[in-house]
Amino acid sequence: MHPFSYTRVSDTRAALDAGRRGGRYIAGGTTLVDLMRETVERPRALVDISALPLREVTVTRRGGLRIGALVRMAEAAAHPRVRALYPVISQALELSASAQLRNMATIGGNIMQRTRCSYFRDVTAACNKREPGTGCAALHGVNRTHAILGTSDDCVATHPSDVAVAFAALEATVHLLGPAGERTVPFADFLLEPGSTPSREQALRPGELITAVEIPALPRPLKSGYLKVRDRQSYEFALTSAAVALHIRGGVIREAKVAAGGVGTVPWKLPAVEGRLIGQRPSDALWTTAAERAADGARPLPHNRFKVELLRRTVERQLRVIGGGK
Ligand SMILES: Cc1cc2nc3c(=O)[nH]c(=O)nc-3n(C[C@H](O)[C@H](O)[C@H](O)COP(=O)(O)OP(=O)(O)OC[C@H]3O[C@@H](n4cnc5c(N)ncnc54)[C@H](O)[C@@H]3O)c2cc1C
Repeated sequence: MHPFSYTRVSDTRAALDAGRRGGRYIAGGTTLVDLMRETVERPRALVDISALPLREVTVTRRGGLRIGALVRMAEAAAHPRVRALYPVISQALELSASAQLRNMATIGGNIMQRTRCSYFRDVTAACNKREPGTGCAALHGVNRTHAILGTSDDCVATHPSDVAVAFAALEATVHLLGPAGERTVPFADFLLEPGSTPSREQALRPGELITAVEIPALPRPLKSGYLKVRDRQSYEFALTSAAVALHIRGGVIREAKVAAGGVGTVPWKLPAVEGRLIGQRPSDALWTTAAERAADGARPLPHNRFKVELLRRTVERQLRVIGGGK
């Protein structure tokens, strides 16, 4: 580990001051500290924000949900409002990491977590995300768990978060506070596809702090849920996953929100699948037809061709679970 300074702040102004001076925010520390130990990350100044008053879950005036950036994953998952309004969020969180990690890790830190690509985490390997211009060892290496959507010639790493897939599906908004004041960014624009600059991963400006994630109100009744497919049933990242929310009224699907995880360089929204669902009556045939569009545009790598079919099946199964049928 490289030497670093550590400051604990208790108000947002002090946090922003430290952030403006180049300090790196640390919340639960469950992933940043690992990366520092591996010398993948070498911040010179840590600013511990865990005491900031960003730990509330509130229902917005319009009936959406605002989850403070420092709400622990376990707290968010168990929160009665989250469970009642958006089970897809609770399920995505409960299927993440381990109980110990979920007790420490925060919502803000979760969406900011970096890829689990083993070449990114190996400082001796070529990685454009870690060291721009060095190449991408995963392109011709072991790439079974890598992305098939949103990739570029410079990076094929997946975004590992589960709850980010639910946020993408539900079209959440990220609330930010920075030296220039407050702003909001649609979740779809917050995490960035790698393109030719894979080291730039989020739309955060220098010194900006995530204060909350807001999920918009959606028409009710709304059924939602998260399916995660992985090599083992616990304590493992997704090979594929699907977050699905459906509003069905009068026997017709009026609203459909669908996104996939484990397959994209960012959580992957599936508008073509949603388009096939809206206005239709639920049926087994519909789930199959809609899921056929799940892997549109996929560019599989030599070791992960299986993800194309696995993604299609994951989406089809979760549509059936939420929408009904065998
Ligand atoms: C063994 C293991 C298994 C895991 N499995 C899963 C899994 O299956 N699914 C899953 O989704 N996740 C998984 N994770 C990741 C875990 O969820 C993250 O480590 C955790 O959510 C990070 O939150 P944190 O508060 O500890 O972040 P920290 O480690 O404190 O910070 C992470 C990053 O976020 C930044 N940051 C934190 N808060 C803010 C803020 N408010 N504003 C701006 N920047 C901020 C930090 O600067 C840092 O860059 C796993 C982690 C481990 C170690």
